[in-house]
Amino acid sequence: MKIAVLAGDGIGPEIMVEALKVLDALRLPEVTLWQGDVGGIGYHRHGHPLPPETLEMTKAADAVLFGAVGDPTCDTLERHLRPEQAILGLRQALGLFANLRPAQMFAGLEDLSALRPEISRTIDLLIVRELNGDVYFGEKAIRTLDDGRRQGFDFMSYAEDEVRRIAHVAFRAAQGRQKKLTSVDKANVLETSQLWRDVVIEVAKDYPDVQLSHMYVDNAAMQLVRDPGQFDVVVTGNLFGDILSDQASMCVGSIGLLASASLGETQTQFGTKGLYEPIHGSAPDIAGQGKANPMAMILSAAMMLRHSFGREAEAVRIETAVAKALADGIKGADLGGTAGTSQVGDAVVARL
Ligand code: NAD
Repeated sequence: MKIAVLAGDGIGPEIMVEALKVLDALRLPEVTLWQGDVGGIGYHRHGHPLPPETLEMTKAADAVLFGAVGDPTCDTLERHLRPEQAILGLRQALGLFANLRPAQMFAGLEDLSALRPEISRTIDLLIVRELNGDVYFGEKAIRTLDDGRRQGFDFMSYAEDEVRRIAHVAFRAAQGRQKKLTSVDKANVLETSQLWRDVVIEVAKDYPDVQLSHMYVDNAAMQLVRDPGQFDVVVTGNLFGDILSDQASMCVGSIGLLASASLGETQTQFGTKGLYEPIHGSAPDIAGQGKANPMAMILSAAMMLRHSFGREAEAVRIETAVAKALADGIKGADLGGTAGTSQVGDAVVARL
């Protein structure tokens, strides 16, 4: 099991140490860890946020475990040399088109949610967002019309194969959960969404065990805060997913708890190749202080075991250990507690 470990900048290396500690404690056979530079550290050491040797390593690996990138000293560099470009480069090079973001309320943290505790307690959902298409990648410009007015435009489109492959990812994810899938679109006004809906319905024939429903995105935004417990897996396009996944994250509470996976179509002998990272950034304001909460990084490693290595039992062990640590009051500063980064990692290992 070859894992490319890219810790990155800021708190990235600190939280990565804890995730590796947890993986090590599982004593999995045949794990090979390759360490590479990415982000600001990649730029400072090799002149590029995604150095060729790092890229090659990720191509040869079965999975990529990614910390965070972002370095204030790189803020004035040309855009293509900024640390954040490394993520886009990796998504493109590895063909990662499906972003999976689980949002689950942990017992004892209900008060951190922006929602009332009796509502936030019900959150246990997974958002599957398409990453490579939609209005973000279409033709776009600001042009001047004949009458002199400026006009901005962005072309929205999805080809049926792009919808089909993300739908398959979402249906399979639903099979591993509560077998309920909600497809979110805006088919009442957008042709792109009508095609999306038609294709999702076609793909559903392959998954008779999954209950499929459709929801317009405006209603979905409302339902996410009104009754989030109704959702199991939500699949949606790039634009709607961008917004809804952040909304769902914040319904849960701290940013230090949320993991993500980006999957492609490449199958290895163990599972689907993917990149796993916390949703937060490099948090330069707390870097080097031993304060960062490593739980999102640790939960990202659990997602890696599930999706890229078919190790569901170990993934659940990690997730249960994190939940137990939280229930026992092991909380970092982001959760109103005093536990430091390594203390949190040790607490999770102790509960594995
Ligand atoms: P951020 O997520 O890094 O931090 C936002 C706030 O949350 C900060 O106050 C930070 O201290 C806190 N925080 C984040 N993670 C935490 C953790 N694990 N434990 C405790 N507190 C935590 O977002 P930002 O400040 O807007 O961005 C900082 C840098 O990170 C920027 O350069 C940005 O471009 C980059 N960024 C990278 C990624 C990524 O690597 N995928 C994602 C978002 C932002």
